[in-house]
Amino acid sequence: MQQIVLATGNAGKVKEFARLLADYPFEVLPQSQFNVGDVAEDGTTFVENAIIKARHAARITGLPAIADDSGIEVDALQGQPGIYSARYAGDHGNAEANLQKLLTTMAAKTDRRARFQCVLVFMRHGEDPSPIIAQASWEGAIAHGKSGDAGHGYDPIFTVAGDSRSAAELSDDEKNAVSHRGKALALLVAGLKEKGIL
Ligand code: IMP
Repeated sequence: MQQIVLATGNAGKVKEFARLLADYPFEVLPQSQFNVGDVAEDGTTFVENAIIKARHAARITGLPAIADDSGIEVDALQGQPGIYSARYAGDHGNAEANLQKLLTTMAAKTDRRARFQCVLVFMRHGEDPSPIIAQASWEGAIAHGKSGDAGHGYDPIFTVAGDSRSAAELSDDEKNAVSHRGKALALLVAGLKEKGIL
């Protein structure tokens, strides 16, 4: 059984990856199990930050690593909050403060278009020169208020394109079938298969 370290402290993500890779001879382990601390996410793109996190985890553990980076980009704000989505309302901001700041910032805007982005990176080892990269997005618009109580983060104010519901009004299965993360996960598995890793 090949061990893979997941460069996140989020237990939900570890479970999600473990489920996805359940049919393969991989054991997905959280980086906390190896005392891998946080690394400065000082890239300027989702891809750079995902690579920074995967490389850090792979170097410290000596194991292959998977990292993800995600966020929401808003057209009327030139792609902001983007890579800063988690800290939009400040380092000590939380999901509610972040989405309230976005609602306020967008109050007078007529162009409401937005999308979630997700990048997943797999590195065979810490010096891997050709990481496997999967990127996917999910189109929608910023609503004028919150609706729904499923999901997390910006879901209650993200109106799904072609649907009148917010992302927080979808079931987990509905969201996974169309979301940035669901699609990126499928692409990553396809990439790992193509490279003979899975
Ligand atoms: P992270 O990749 O888990 O650090 O998430 C980055 C930021 O983007 C956080 O503020 C999340 O709330 C937000 N985000 C990423 N994906 C989603 C999503 O599917 N729904 C809502 N917010 C998301």
